[in-house]
Amino acid sequence: MTKLTKKQEERAARIHREALVVDTHCDTLMKLTPQPRGSPPARRLGERSDTGHIDLPRLQEGGVDCQTFAVYTGKRVGQPGATLRALQMIDVFFCECDANDGIVPVYSHDEILKAEKAGKVAALLAIEGAEPLQGDLGVLRVLHRLGVRMLSFTWNWRTPFADGLDAKRSEGKLTDLGVEALREMERLGIVLDVSHISDSCFWDVVDLKSGAFIASHSNCRDVCDHQRNLTDDMIRALADHGGVMGMNFAPSFVDKDEATVERVVDHIDHVVDMVGPDHVGLGSDFDGIGSTPVGLEDASKMPNITRELVKREYSDDDVVKILGGNYLRVFKEILQD
Ligand SMILES: [Zn+2]
Repeated sequence: MTKLTKKQEERAARIHREALVVDTHCDTLMKLTPQPRGSPPARRLGERSDTGHIDLPRLQEGGVDCQTFAVYTGKRVGQPGATLRALQMIDVFFCECDANDGIVPVYSHDEILKAEKAGKVAALLAIEGAEPLQGDLGVLRVLHRLGVRMLSFTWNWRTPFADGLDAKRSEGKLTDLGVEALREMERLGIVLDVSHISDSCFWDVVDLKSGAFIASHSNCRDVCDHQRNLTDDMIRALADHGGVMGMNFAPSFVDKDEATVERVVDHIDHVVDMVGPDHVGLGSDFDGIGSTPVGLEDASKMPNITRELVKREYSDDDVVKILGGNYLRVFKEILQD
């Protein structure tokens, strides 16, 4: 990273400390959940590791105040075990939170603020890919009772709800069940996440959804041409709904040549230039990506985003929004207290 002046460094450190920093996607639960059951987990949440990207010590060092933990089962529809695997990952989420004083599961906007005040990391539970629901809205309701507050209908495959990016040939819309699920999520207070959904289903969500939805870990297709990133039209539509997109650190989504923290912030610039500072946040995809941008090697490096924003002369208010304020607005709108 190019150097900041002493004054800029102090300003960046202060803003990062004062801001409530939100990251809406990581795959750390995959690393914490033993497979097969009974074998030792690859990592523990409370122990600082020199592999992977997220554990409690590194979240604390990076000033991350609210971390979403995704339950991604890797199972396709029709493959048995998606629900069991999801329940095992949810169990590990709670056991690991119980075992560590510095992190607490949260279910509402107020609880996120309370956790931050208490100096604890707020942990949000998400389902990535609706395979564990087995096409049953009763399971959706039970998962909500278990603490799930964010859901994407698809990883990259087709589910009973929608098509993912690798199943887009039909250019389909949400299924009837997908529309029902959307309404049930609005009633319960579950955030809809459109990262990984096919482009045609994205546009169906835009038509059907009232209020905000998010793309928890997707960048700009105009800056880096990848199907997992959003087109400018999609970004405008998401912003029209009051939504937020979280910047993904996967190098292939950031830059085809060399991914760096500066290039990640180029994606932020692109969103801000188009729709203003209220619709962009962070969705690292840590522990779900094999390599990382230069300057964002793990969660402890999150302050480098703030440093780059300060270098580019973003206002204090705008930096605070981008680091988490925008997501807090959506959580306040959707998550019932
Ligand atoms: Zn993902």
